[in-house]
Amino acid sequence: MELTIQTSSPYQILIRRGCLDQLGEQAGTLFRGGGRAMIITDSNVGPLYARRAADSLAKAGFVPDVFTFPAGEESKRLSTIERVYAAMAEQKMTRTDFIVALGGGVTGDMAGFAAATFLRGIGFIQIPTSLLAQIDSSVGGKTGVDLPQGKNLVGAFHQPRLVLIDPDTLATLPPRFFADGMAEAIKYGCIKSRPLFELIRDNDLSKEPKVLERMITECVDCKRRVVEDDEFDTGERMLLNFGHTLGHALEKHYAFSKLTHGEAVGIGMVKICRAGEALDLTKPGTAEEIAALLRQYRLPTEDDAPAESLAKAAAMDKKGMGGTLNLILLREIGHSFVHPIPKQELLPIIIKEKEEHA
Ligand code: NAD
Repeated sequence: MELTIQTSSPYQILIRRGCLDQLGEQAGTLFRGGGRAMIITDSNVGPLYARRAADSLAKAGFVPDVFTFPAGEESKRLSTIERVYAAMAEQKMTRTDFIVALGGGVTGDMAGFAAATFLRGIGFIQIPTSLLAQIDSSVGGKTGVDLPQGKNLVGAFHQPRLVLIDPDTLATLPPRFFADGMAEAIKYGCIKSRPLFELIRDNDLSKEPKVLERMITECVDCKRRVVEDDEFDTGERMLLNFGHTLGHALEKHYAFSKLTHGEAVGIGMVKICRAGEALDLTKPGTAEEIAALLRQYRLPTEDDAPAESLAKAAAMDKKGMGGTLNLILLREIGHSFVHPIPKQELLPIIIKEKEEHA
């Protein structure tokens, strides 16, 4: 399956089992033959797939090199980027050379940021290997790193030249990260597509590769539509934050230790839907329908963190502008909208949601 995304610089997204081995051939249509390519990958993904990526590039006449960093969010920082720059400078890479991001969202965000800034910007190809990266972070051009003060505080919009999604790489992804990605897939169904929601509900995607490939395509298509409407995140793209206001607040409340991102977003989706139902803005029963699907993928749906702590953490979220917080609500599954509220109204909403549920 091939999708083209019409951003300021359009590019193709190829979703096909086994397409990792087509990297060289595909790169040959975009970059000068004989050029250098830096494959950036982490310590889990590199040993599994970097050789295949490098061989494919070499076969197509490129000169590949591999930069490997220790896996994990802790590596997503400027000091790693500095080491990437040094490796590329040592290889005397020029503006016509390119980067290949081979890994999960951490790799994609970092390699993309290195590509956005090295020599004021060079091309890069995304080869996402986690479910979250395949359906979300590899598409849309948001790149960046964390600071000690917070996640994703430094970054740039830099679109890849190509995204190669090989669902077969998910065979080696640990189950916990697979579930994490499923929470985001369920989110797309909630905000944009009831048929996608039902596809996830009516199949066991951890066991059905063909359906999984279809689901990835549908999710990427949802992301494509949202990004095309709002490349620089000033409006419609906010819909992708469904479940994230309370999800981020939960992650912060537990100092990023108790819940994974996907688990927190799942709970956030249920809570915000219950709030929407309490406000008569969301069709009754929506929250329970989402909770049932999350449970199907062994994701939690409840948490008893205090309302005051969640409201405080959410009010500090960088996505809130001034005194306003943009809540993403559903009218029903498949239809989402932005509901701006004054920040101080969040606490009574969370308390009401808790009371309704008690
Ligand atoms: P990750 O890159 O750390 O990958 C998760 C884990 O899975 C890692 O241990 C990784 O080594 C391993 N892994 C990945 N693919 C594998 C495979 N095929 N086989 C075996 N192991 C594999 O994290 P993630 O969950 O993919 O992404 C999270 C990051 O994405 C966060 O930093 C987040 O901020 C970012 N993100 C960015 C965007 C965006 O639009 N740019 C969107 C959402 C999330």
